[in-house]
Amino acid sequence: MTISAATQVLAVIGDPVAHSLSPVMHNGWIADHGLDAVYVALPLKTADAEPALKALKALHLHGLNITVPHKAAAARAADRSQADVANVWRWELDGSVSAFNTDGDGFLDSLDESAPAWRTRTSRALVLGAGGAALAIGAALSPFVDTIHFANRTVARAEVASASVPNGRSLRWDDLERGFGAADLIVQATTLSMSGDDAVEWPVANIRAGAIVADIVYQPLETGLLRAARERGLTTVDGLGMLIYQGVRSFELWFGIKPDAAKARARLLAALGETP
Ligand code: NAP
Repeated sequence: MTISAATQVLAVIGDPVAHSLSPVMHNGWIADHGLDAVYVALPLKTADAEPALKALKALHLHGLNITVPHKAAAARAADRSQADVANVWRWELDGSVSAFNTDGDGFLDSLDESAPAWRTRTSRALVLGAGGAALAIGAALSPFVDTIHFANRTVARAEVASASVPNGRSLRWDDLERGFGAADLIVQATTLSMSGDDAVEWPVANIRAGAIVADIVYQPLETGLLRAARERGLTTVDGLGMLIYQGVRSFELWFGIKPDAAKARARLLAALGETP
């Protein structure tokens, strides 16, 4: 593809962002559809990203993804936002910026793909973590389940998360054995799985037969929790699906085209050095 003055520029902004897989995913789809566009990664190292994001508005990119730790600043800096934390910006024809959050619905899309029966099988959900991703997942799951328990190392954040949805409850971090035993769907949304396969001893033996176990971390692709759940014969959902489907929804917002999730998965597995 030839880059010219007419080429539309899109980016992911965050810190760290050098290992982001979003450029592989979006540039693959841009090529699939023959679009005159390019998607790059831009590191933004600052405690307060709002001024930099406000300045970026004037550059009129075609689209932007925002990742950790700038999603709340992105929601505040936009001219309008669908949620308190945003992972997508879209420039409108009048030059204003609309912010969206596709993380939660992207997670539900990945559940639909990997555990299609989840809606009928899930009455009680347990979300591990209370960060930006856990909040987005909780908001998306809330209408479809009876209760969502949030368990988080820092109790105050678990309480904020549980108050963010009408059917939310908080669970003590030292009460995970009970929480694992009661849940139909367990979603690991802390950074813990990134520490290494065996870093955490989750009470997998307590999980009820028929439960679904999801981990939104995708490096490693099969986390220690997912491996232990698979070895018990439980349905597992890896974090690559959420990455892909939040991206599908971003791409649709920017280009009005639904891109091919399966092609993205093959490209991302290759980028991660995994066999498809
Ligand atoms: P975040 O807002 O920084 O939240 C981090 C969470 O991890 C908090 O709940 C934090 O608990 C918990 N945590 C960190 N260290 C811990 C430890 N040693 N023990 C127990 N809990 C610990 O991050 P986020 O944006 O929600 O992202 C969370 C994870 O999801 C990251 O690994 C991220 O890469 C992944 N993610 C994946 C996707 C995807 O598309 N698959 C999308 C978004 C995020 P405290 O409140 O106690 O600090």
